[in-house]
Amino acid sequence: MSLTLITGPMGSQKSTYLICALDKASALTGARIMFLRHCDDPKTANQGRSISTNGKITFEFPQSVTMCFSRSVSAALTQSQTNPTHLFIDEIHFFDEEPTVHAILFAFKMGVAVFASGLKYDCYGAFFQTTLSVDSLASVRIATTGQCCISGCTSPSQHSALRDTKLTLAPTGKEVGGLEKYAPMCVEHFYGHLKENGIAAWPKPPPRVM
Ligand SMILES: [Zn+2]
Repeated sequence: MSLTLITGPMGSQKSTYLICALDKASALTGARIMFLRHCDDPKTANQGRSISTNGKITFEFPQSVTMCFSRSVSAALTQSQTNPTHLFIDEIHFFDEEPTVHAILFAFKMGVAVFASGLKYDCYGAFFQTTLSVDSLASVRIATTGQCCISGCTSPSQHSALRDTKLTLAPTGKEVGGLEKYAPMCVEHFYGHLKENGIAAWPKPPPRVM
């Protein structure tokens, strides 16, 4: 039983890392692999057997991999006929905190090796609760960084800022999107961006409707 957790901001190759681990595992004899993604993840819209990360790399899932699109990690584990040896969860911050923690503990009991990737911080700089709690179960933690999107900045990105700042001023709900909606920024530029736009940073502004 083990959990490898890959966290980082938008565009920092988290999913690429996850796919590399999946590719390695799929070469193991007797491995039964499940790849899980949340229904609300925009990448789920195209439920094919290939994915592109950051619009660059396209990965073709081997036929042996069970693709699963669900709101619940435990439902994916129990309803599938796969009985996986390896479970890969993409964008784990989409899943609800408590049931996800219990589902991963259940996977441990079943002897499943779990790999998950996800955002660590939301667009206000606050922790995603699911990622934080799942981190407490991890035996291996990988932090990815990309490049700050501010021209001329050489610092690594650590945060994902909403490009449309008006969205952050009103409780509009969870803004689901990729790099077209979120800009990867270093710590300095991210907090500067919040300040310039009058956006309250961590702790969170009024609760958003999920
Ligand atoms: Zn920067």
